Amino acid sequence: MAVTLESSHRYGRLSVFRVHGSPRDVGEQLGERFTKEAHRAVEIFKRELTWEPGGTMEGAKRYARKVLPRIETWYPDFLDEMRGYSKGSGVAFDVLAASWSGYSPSLGRKGCTDLAVGPEHTAGGSVLVAHNEDYSPPFEGNVVPVHVAVDGKPAFFAMSYGGLFPTIGFNDAGISLTGNAVSHNDSRVGIPKMFPPRRVLEARTLVEALEASMPEGRGSSFNNIVCSREGELYSMEGSATTFDAVYGEDGWLVHTNHYLSPKMWKFETNLHTKFCSIMRYNRARRLLKPFLGRVTPETIMAIQRDHVGEPDSICRHENPANGEADKTKTLFGSVINLTTGEVWVSGSTPCSTEYRTYRLGG
Ligand SMILES: [Zn+2]
Repeated sequence: MAVTLESSHRYGRLSVFRVHGSPRDVGEQLGERFTKEAHRAVEIFKRELTWEPGGTMEGAKRYARKVLPRIETWYPDFLDEMRGYSKGSGVAFDVLAASWSGYSPSLGRKGCTDLAVGPEHTAGGSVLVAHNEDYSPPFEGNVVPVHVAVDGKPAFFAMSYGGLFPTIGFNDAGISLTGNAVSHNDSRVGIPKMFPPRRVLEARTLVEALEASMPEGRGSSFNNIVCSREGELYSMEGSATTFDAVYGEDGWLVHTNHYLSPKMWKFETNLHTKFCSIMRYNRARRLLKPFLGRVTPETIMAIQRDHVGEPDSICRHENPANGEADKTKTLFGSVINLTTGEVWVSGSTPCSTEYRTYRLGG
């Protein structure tokens, strides 16, 4: 199969922290390496708590104690990894769990832009999966590239919050995980949305990955985009209690932060907060369509730099009109080539920083 190997020669190499071992060992090494990021995430979480009426760290710890048994049942390995991370970073386990339990689910007007393009539409016959990570500006630099190989599981590359919680990634079994925040009105006590993405990256098959993306007993959910190197593209639009599997039946898909499936419309918390999402969705589709059949990583990078609707554009910049809880910017842009095992990641906003590349098997 023809591939786009030539693309990688134009880019500098992305510096990636590589780790392998048991879940506990992996967690401890990640915690030691990303101690600064781990403590910074706690400080950001404390700040976020002040945005929630009645939000306190004690309340978050209580909430975490309710959901931890559910995580333990569904995904005990990762709790071991978190315990290792706690030891390595020096962040107390109950604080770490509280920070990532979903106690403070406020999305505000934040949200990302994703594309996926199958082999029938790319110049080199590769599967390309792309994501702009749009989130709170204080997280700039706190989402780091890691290559993780837990004993007995597929190795994966991810951009992870504090090195621990992936927001995008792909593994050497040819499965990718990207996705978008959605705002559903059926949140409940259950498996927090930050955990399924990590488990998708341990999947060996597409069916395992789809199942891992939507565990029963969720408390909240992202729209988890799960793709395979065969060009199977799924946008798993989840809420807490149900989901719809939106399939890229034309060989490509775009997703932002509102539900596309009519089945999911009744779970949308407030469509009136989704104008930015609607604009980015339509804009990305319009920019991509003329290139179908000849899409390259550079085609997608150009879309990720787009400024129509600035500052609430695909390449997002802080909007001074937004309150602190709604402030957002693109922390990085990324393009995964699932066929060649390469990824390109920009240092910050795609318009202002270079993309660097990494090969999972290299
Ligand atoms: Zn920009």
